[in-house]
Amino acid sequence: MNTFGYAAYSTDSPLAPYTFERRELRPDDVALEILYCGVCHSDLHTARNDWGWSYYPIVPGHEIVGRVIEVGSQVTRYKVGDHVAVGCMVDSCQDCDQCRKGEEQLCRQAPTYTYSGMDRITGEPTQGGYSKHLVVREAFCLRMPEGLNLAKAAPLLCAGITTYSPLRTWNVGPGSRVGVIGLGGLGHMAVKLAVGLGADVAVLSRSNSKKADALALGANRLLVSSDAEAMAKAANGFDLIIDTVPAKHELDPYLPLLDVDGTLVIVGQVGPMNEVSTVPLLLGRRRIAGSPIGGIRETQELLDFCAKKNILPDCEMIRMDQINEAFERMEKADVRYRFVIDMASLSAAVA
Ligand code: NAP
Ligand code: ZN
Repeated sequence: MNTFGYAAYSTDSPLAPYTFERRELRPDDVALEILYCGVCHSDLHTARNDWGWSYYPIVPGHEIVGRVIEVGSQVTRYKVGDHVAVGCMVDSCQDCDQCRKGEEQLCRQAPTYTYSGMDRITGEPTQGGYSKHLVVREAFCLRMPEGLNLAKAAPLLCAGITTYSPLRTWNVGPGSRVGVIGLGGLGHMAVKLAVGLGADVAVLSRSNSKKADALALGANRLLVSSDAEAMAKAANGFDLIIDTVPAKHELDPYLPLLDVDGTLVIVGQVGPMNEVSTVPLLLGRRRIAGSPIGGIRETQELLDFCAKKNILPDCEMIRMDQINEAFERMEKADVRYRFVIDMASLSAAVA
């Protein structure tokens, strides 16, 4: 299928129109027209090749909401016209212990990512959601619950599931004390979801400028991470801290905030961190962990949870041709709190 979108052509050129082929439908494939796509910081990292595994041209985008336009002969769960969603994965081996448990993000052979991946059959590079159409295996398609706002739901597919999964893994519920480092796309979802699960939530930010927002999102306070006195007062006060910072940084200021057996889970930085003192780890039996996105079953659970609880990301809608400006603003942490591209703007943007 011939389609079009916006791609990065090199580490330092702006995203620009790109015409390319999607694979012909396999029996277990679903084809969709993309209606909305969220803008994740991972899209920016990938366009810039920050992680070293990008190829060019590359079409970013993995917070995808669309409408089914065609289904393969063996597809049973979706029909033309259904509203569906696709996140960071489009395939996995479907056979290992992790896939069988519904933890495809931990597939022993690695999942196939929506972009910066390789098709498991043809070996072709995968291309993401800043595009008109997508072809995806049925098993990686999510159902949009009735009543969930299609445009605003898009960021749930990455920012949502990446923060929901650790909240569920570490059994966050009523009375849990949760800290969230970095109030951006992932961070603001972590706050909303932890509050939705009944937790007491604090935001840890670099300045006081997002305090009113943090409180409006449901947090009970904002701690400025450079305020040594406030940080000392908060010692031993958290069961779980979710760290969404997208760059190399210090963990030492945060570890003493954990209570005994508490966990700081890294979901932001992919790569090296500053040197860490083990003293707070040993003395408090504290842990540092990591967590990648979440499985398909858990993502569907998240969509249903958000529909039931009316939890939606705070979105700023943009046109496709505003993506380069959006990336620049994201680099300055000037996003409140997720850009979503209205893909109806794509045709005009490539004309
Ligand atoms: P984002 O919207 O840009 O938000 C990041 C927030 O972190 C900013 O709003 C800012 O909050 C803080 N921050 C930014 N630069 C910082 C720096 N140099 N030092 C300290 N704090 C900084 O990004 P996002 O979309 O939430 O993504 C965050 C990270 O998660 C990215 O690296 C992305 O690649 C990664 N990610 C991982 C997964 C996964 O599977 N684990 C999935 C999706 C994304 P304050 O202004 O409050 O300080
Ligand atoms: Zn993402």
